[in-house]
Amino acid sequence: MPDVRTSDHDDVALAAPVAMVSLNPNAWTEPFWVAAGQHRLTVQRCLACGTVRHPPGPFCPRCRTQDSDWVDLSGRATLYSFTVIRHALAPPLRAYLPMVIAVVAPDEAPTARLVANLVEVAVGDVAIGMPLEVVWEDAGDGVAVFRFRPAAPALRRTKETSS
Ligand SMILES: [Zn+2]
Repeated sequence: MPDVRTSDHDDVALAAPVAMVSLNPNAWTEPFWVAAGQHRLTVQRCLACGTVRHPPGPFCPRCRTQDSDWVDLSGRATLYSFTVIRHALAPPLRAYLPMVIAVVAPDEAPTARLVANLVEVAVGDVAIGMPLEVVWEDAGDGVAVFRFRPAAPALRRTKETSS
């Protein structure tokens, strides 16, 4: 049977449960996920020129220096871009639609980009440039996944409060 499920602009954006998340960090991404497990959002910073970058990697894209450290972010950010997923590519995801996948620019590192679910917002209220804040969902074993929600409480919706 074809998947004809649709959503409208009043639907609240959902996210797949963290139990469906499988992390496989490498040497460059592991510090990010260790910090995430402590509910700290971080970005890698070049020690030579100060450029912040995400995803993390071995070289600064600006000056090619390998030395880097990590900077804690406040979790405040701006919505840079997004897409709305209304059709599940895998059947287990059907219960978590619609999903809003966001590209987010952290306030303290506006040239870095994070990709995450937007939650607690009606799909029709999502707008590029909107202020966001991070929210965490624990997966156990020191693993936590970050999402973003509207910074403005007036824009926040849950499935229970939507009409
Ligand atoms: Zn650099």
